[in-house]
Amino acid sequence: MKILVLNSGSSSLKFQLFEIKEKEHVLIKGIADGIGLNNSFIKYEIEGNSKKIRKKIKNHRVALKNVLGIILDNRIISLLSEIKAIGHRAVHGGEEFKKTVLINDKVMKKIKELSELAPLHNPANLIGIRVCKELLPSVKQVAVFDTCFHSSIPEKAFIYGIPYKYYKKYGIRRYGFHGTSHYYVSKKAAEILKKDYNKLKIITCHLGNGSSIAAVMNGKSIDTSMGFTPLEGVVMGTRCGDIDPAIIFFLMKKEKLSVKEMDNILNKKSGLLGISGISPDVRVLWNNEKKGNKRAHLALDVLAYRITKYIGSYIASLNGVDAIVFTAGIGENAYYLRERILKQFEYIGLRIDKKKNENNETIITAKDSKVVAMVIPTNEELQIARETLRVVKGN
Ligand code: ADP
Repeated sequence: MKILVLNSGSSSLKFQLFEIKEKEHVLIKGIADGIGLNNSFIKYEIEGNSKKIRKKIKNHRVALKNVLGIILDNRIISLLSEIKAIGHRAVHGGEEFKKTVLINDKVMKKIKELSELAPLHNPANLIGIRVCKELLPSVKQVAVFDTCFHSSIPEKAFIYGIPYKYYKKYGIRRYGFHGTSHYYVSKKAAEILKKDYNKLKIITCHLGNGSSIAAVMNGKSIDTSMGFTPLEGVVMGTRCGDIDPAIIFFLMKKEKLSVKEMDNILNKKSGLLGISGISPDVRVLWNNEKKGNKRAHLALDVLAYRITKYIGSYIASLNGVDAIVFTAGIGENAYYLRERILKQFEYIGLRIDKKKNENNETIITAKDSKVVAMVIPTNEELQIARETLRVVKGN
């Protein structure tokens, strides 16, 4: 069965077309970027060969039309009716969506209502859904939410220490994000270790532009570092992560900042960029650190320390840990950070294998290590395709 996976952002449309038989195969993948802007383009890859076309892309409708045209022109399929389902990455499912759903008008209305909780993401996801409804009206559409996997988090971990009425009135609670990735890599870890997923304690570290850590107990998320929004948790590229909320009032008063300006500082000017004053990119900071730049060193040190603290606290939440998994851009590559983090867990018998870690191997701990540390590339698109298939088959 051919399944199209779409990730619709405010100015981009990422796509992957999967053929799912006994094996899963990517037929074409790519991105239409700069939608509605001056420098728009479409980049795509077929069997390792990539191509970039610069062209004006007025809106998401034009983007999808172009993508479908590319799929047909390259004879990936001969008729659009060969696409049997479309899986959409949807960001915020609130408390309403605890699992992947088939999209209908009611679901679309609810995603719209949830835009209040994810003003940057949910409206963009909806545009993608609407455009598909228009251009491929007979194809079943499925929404896979970033928040779903964390819907198992117990009340004690999702309630904030503010008046309870605000949870009831506005839905202020921990939701967590990157759920599709945390689920995919934790499940994959169990498969690689040949152990029962439902009997494992796993800590997953999704470290990319946005980062979150999750505690997975017997196949269920029991806590995660991102909260009501993706701003909470570890320090990120440009996001502050956990801070004392009183800092916000202090700064707003001292610097005479509006809510919008403050929001912009915490989301776009903080984190690794804010601390280092150089870059949000770990690769750039690592190069600067090696040249002796103190602030680059400090930014990476803060990052490693925060991640270490989260892992430590989740070991307590889980009452032990079998595997610690690293994924996404930073998690899959920055061996020097993994080393700094994992050496703090020697006390529970974790022994890193320096060479394996430097080579980004799947298992990066020594044979006699009591806890396994792993590097597992995430694949959210594949997980969305699998979920989409399951839902359209009615399982
Ligand atoms: P997103 O969260 O947008 O999906 P990624 O998972 O691709 O992002 O992560 C992007 C980040 O990963 C970059 O900003 C960079 O800091 C980091 N990164 C990517 N490649 C490397 C690398 N080889 N070494 C260290 N860090 C890397």
